Amino acid sequence: MKTAEQKREWEQKMVSQMIALYCRKKHRCGCGLCESCAKLEEYARQRSARCPFMESKTFCSSCKVHCYKPEMREKIREVMRFSGPRMMLYHPLTAMRHIWYTAVSGSATS
Ligand SMILES: [Zn+2]
Repeated sequence: MKTAEQKREWEQKMVSQMIALYCRKKHRCGCGLCESCAKLEEYARQRSARCPFMESKTFCSSCKVHCYKPEMREKIREVMRFSGPRMMLYHPLTAMRHIWYTAVSGSATS
């Protein structure tokens, strides 16, 4: 069983990797994150750092308490939709699959 701190660290790492992949493929700036992706990453890491539900939840995208602003939530979901399946090639983990399905199915929105 992972501790809340390990989950937090893992979540932040995954989020950064997904945003980096998304930006590289979609925005093609080729020199790190573009401005809007950098903002999104910073925002996502902040939310994760402050999340009081780290122990019980699986991932921010599937969290029932939506602490993301609607605008940022849309962006992160788009990133997940794009990067999720690609990340699974490199991280074939059950957790990854779960995150992706939850993010894409939108079941967390209701
Ligand atoms: Zn970008």
